[in-house]
Amino acid sequence: MADSRAFVLLVLCAVITVCVESKYMIYDTAQGVVDGKLNVHLVAHTHDDVGWLKTVDQYYVGSNNSIQGACVQNVLDSTIQALLADKNRKFIYVEQAFFQRWWRDQSEATQATVKRLVSKGQLEMINGGWCMHDEAAPHYIDMIDQTTYGHRFIKQQFNVTPRIGWQIDPFGHSAVQAYLLGAEVGFDSVYFGRIDYQDRAKRKGDKHLEVIWRGSKSLGSSSQIFAGAFPENYEPPPGGFYFEVNDDSPIVQDDMDLFDYNVEERVNDFVAAAVAQANITRTNHVMWMMGTDFKYQYAESWYRNMDKFIHYVNKDGRVNALYSTPSIYTDAKYAETSSWPLKENDYFPYASDVDAYWTGYFTSRAALKGYVRMLSGYYLAARQLEVMKGRNKTRHTTDALGDALGIAQHHDGVSGTSQQHVANDYAKRLSIGQKKAESVVAESIACMVSPKPGCSSSGTKFHQCALLNISYCPSTEADLSSGKKLMVVVYNSLGWNRSDVIRLPVVNDNIAVYDSSGKEVESQLMLLQNESISYRNYYATAYTGKSPSTTPKFWLAFTASVPPLGFSTYTISSSKKPASNFVKKVVYKHTKPEYDTEPEYGEIEIGQGNLKLIYSESDGKLSQYVNSRSSIEASLKQSYSFYAGFDGTTGLQASGAYVFRPNGTYPIGHKLQDITYMYGNIYDELHEQISPWIYQITRVYKNMEHAEVEFTVGPIPIEDGVGKEIVTQITTTMKSNKTFYTDSNGRDFIERIRDYRADWDLDVNQPIAGNYYPINLGIYLKDKKSELSILVDRSIGGSSIVDGQLELMLHRRLLYDDGKGVAEALNETVCVGNDCRGLAVQGKYYIRIDPLGEGAKWRRTYGQEIYSPLLLAFTEVTEQDGNEGTNFQVSKSSRMDPTYSLPDNVVLLTLQELEDGNVLLRLAHLYEIGEDKDLSVTSRVELKKLFGKRKVIKVSEMSLSANQGREEMEKKRLVWKVEGSKNDEPAAQRGGPVDPQKLVAELAPMEIRTFIVTLGKTLSRRLVSSDLSLQ
Ligand SMILES: [Zn+2]
Repeated sequence: MADSRAFVLLVLCAVITVCVESKYMIYDTAQGVVDGKLNVHLVAHTHDDVGWLKTVDQYYVGSNNSIQGACVQNVLDSTIQALLADKNRKFIYVEQAFFQRWWRDQSEATQATVKRLVSKGQLEMINGGWCMHDEAAPHYIDMIDQTTYGHRFIKQQFNVTPRIGWQIDPFGHSAVQAYLLGAEVGFDSVYFGRIDYQDRAKRKGDKHLEVIWRGSKSLGSSSQIFAGAFPENYEPPPGGFYFEVNDDSPIVQDDMDLFDYNVEERVNDFVAAAVAQANITRTNHVMWMMGTDFKYQYAESWYRNMDKFIHYVNKDGRVNALYSTPSIYTDAKYAETSSWPLKENDYFPYASDVDAYWTGYFTSRAALKGYVRMLSGYYLAARQLEVMKGRNKTRHTTDALGDALGIAQHHDGVSGTSQQHVANDYAKRLSIGQKKAESVVAESIACMVSPKPGCSSSGTKFHQCALLNISYCPSTEADLSSGKKLMVVVYNSLGWNRSDVIRLPVVNDNIAVYDSSGKEVESQLMLLQNESISYRNYYATAYTGKSPSTTPKFWLAFTASVPPLGFSTYTISSSKKPASNFVKKVVYKHTKPEYDTEPEYGEIEIGQGNLKLIYSESDGKLSQYVNSRSSIEASLKQSYSFYAGFDGTTGLQASGAYVFRPNGTYPIGHKLQDITYMYGNIYDELHEQISPWIYQITRVYKNMEHAEVEFTVGPIPIEDGVGKEIVTQITTTMKSNKTFYTDSNGRDFIERIRDYRADWDLDVNQPIAGNYYPINLGIYLKDKKSELSILVDRSIGGSSIVDGQLELMLHRRLLYDDGKGVAEALNETVCVGNDCRGLAVQGKYYIRIDPLGEGAKWRRTYGQEIYSPLLLAFTEVTEQDGNEGTNFQVSKSSRMDPTYSLPDNVVLLTLQELEDGNVLLRLAHLYEIGEDKDLSVTSRVELKKLFGKRKVIKVSEMSLSANQGREEMEKKRLVWKVEGSKNDEPAAQRGGPVDPQKLVAELAPMEIRTFIVTLGKTLSRRLVSSDLSLQ
């Protein structure tokens, strides 16, 4: 018995030993770059959209998974564990709006662990903005702000500065991205996924996917960057290398005891894919994007397979595989010391296929685009006012607005390519941020006008009107007949003196406007038209949730003149005299001639200053533009039409949120129309009901030489089952020779030639959509004598489809998804109760014709005024408070030295109090080299005078995103060589270093300089007060 028991035990042991024999395998993942071999850089990454099919918060927490199984929390949680499991593994993270959400949820111990991973280079922050911003729709100021927001967060938490631009998903790439948000933030390279399919094919053949990109003509080689377009997209190469848990790529099965062992096959697949990519890439280095949207939710699954690939591929020895990052890849490229082809301008427009031109999104969600732009200018002004009052962390700050604007710049945010519920989420965040910033602004203004010690208790409440565009402003709609007065504070966030016309909805007619000295200023009353009132009532109700209690009767207009970075106050009150400022209204009705004889037609003229617009009585249409000062007399016509959106029902490419694919052009409002015109002493207006759903007002101001066109488009009718994309054309007889100019994110202008691309021979397959470009500031064309410019109030798409003509796409409503991922038709509606309508878009554009070579001045100066409109705040005062605003101790002031204003070619981009009390200051030169004969020159800004009486203690020049010293950045930055260049290019003009005594900052054309300024200790309220009492 005993023996047999012993035998059984022995046998059991043997069996158990077999069962638990360790098969633990250590994979050799330590391999670095190997010279002389083809190096495959495996870059583990996740692409986390800051809102798209789900909202940013839904993506973060992983809710709403029936739409998309995506949870960023899982990505970061599991990736950190996977990195800790092997010190050779690496990961890059991009979107700081997500990372910051995750970071604040972590324990101190986890934060310390993550800091170690970052310092060892296992986790690298790449790009590092709040989001991966779009490159067509954002204004460059927004791009700078949102990048700064992320970069400073990374600097504070990890004391590192991102080195690499990673714009892998945006739909086309801008020049401003390359030089400003690339080279000027200190990046050594930028990588991206989407370029035109024809361009990509050619670049692959020529091995030109990787280039030296010089985005700015003015800054030239001083602002160039190494730029790499991916061979396909931002996913693993073809051949089955996706390893999320539910992906169907064959995993690397290296256990001989199990079925389906496949190491040799998989190694062969790997080598084949690497060699294929090497055939279209220069040097012995290729980069593989190991990941895609919201991957690494179970990171070990990716890393387990990459561990095995690195181990077995390197054992095989034909190519060298390594864990890498874009930084390591960039350094490897740089170390090859080769030179690279030159790329200039930009990568717009982007087409992914013959009929898939992604030029619709330049206009998609035009109302959201308008809201983002409006708040962008407001955020700039609000931060200035926050500096003046002193940042108060315990109360509201402007941070919520900065955060919301940062999120909205995402390439599915302001681009208009998110689902509707996500677009609503962006708008909601913006609105919350706006409300908080409004309190900062109101407190600061109260403080400025009543500089008693402890001014926050001055008690005066200032209101602002976010819906002035639709003539809704409860503050100004108060009845002033009973002796109440309305105080208007007008703040100017520009560094120049400025005069502009203020227009306010009011209910009384016998009112007058007084300046701060009690003197009446010229004003004008214009009847509010029924069309405007109906839009107003509907949209004010939709926005506020209740219908407006009053209806204003008039627009009151007056000219405010405001010092730089300062304010003026005006008082509106009832006037003893009968109203004398009414404008004359004329309605021109078309009647059919009763007799066969042609009636005699005359002309209608609006404009009482230098500029006149002339309309023909015969059809009520614009016919001529006359400027008596510049002697311009030009034929000028305007028309509307729509493109029918291709429906795609036959399986072909549809027009949608991303793609513009027109299916025929149809004129709108070609019939004779009635027109209403009104003449005033400040401006004239001409009203046209172009169609039942397009209303247009053209204004010509007496003291300005451009026409302002306010359009209301919508609801776009779709009852006929046809989606429509609404455009307006401005037509001259100018011989523009296929050439026109559009801005890059509101900054440099780029020459566009119809049906032509500088980088390849274009196959024209979409003659309209393929000639559309994004417009943020403006578009112009010229001939030998003159130039026609149009400026816009938001980002939209535009083109010149016919010589002498500019076209703007104002609004789009489409009924089919275009198959590029959003899975919704772009069909925006708005509801009041059960009354749902197609969304109407109201906006403005501005037209001017100048003699050749003289247009830039208006485009730059007025363009900046459009971006930064005068900020208005209102409060009611009673008789007891005193007369005409003199109750306020301070009624007009500039925070700068009162004798100083910025040079005409320089603008203040940022004045912002940082967390540590220092001030972030950014100055930008507005002109390119050669753009204007007087203003394209280096300018000097006296920093001491900029801060008035506040003593400047210290000024440090920083990189554009203010996360490192400028000098330090320049020292670190890689210097790339352009193929064929002989190093004899003239150095770009740049301002010299700032002398710490003189404190004068020079700015060369297109230069932006960023400083952190330490001001004297007495910075707080007391100094602000004495500052203000200067005048
Ligand atoms: Zn994306």
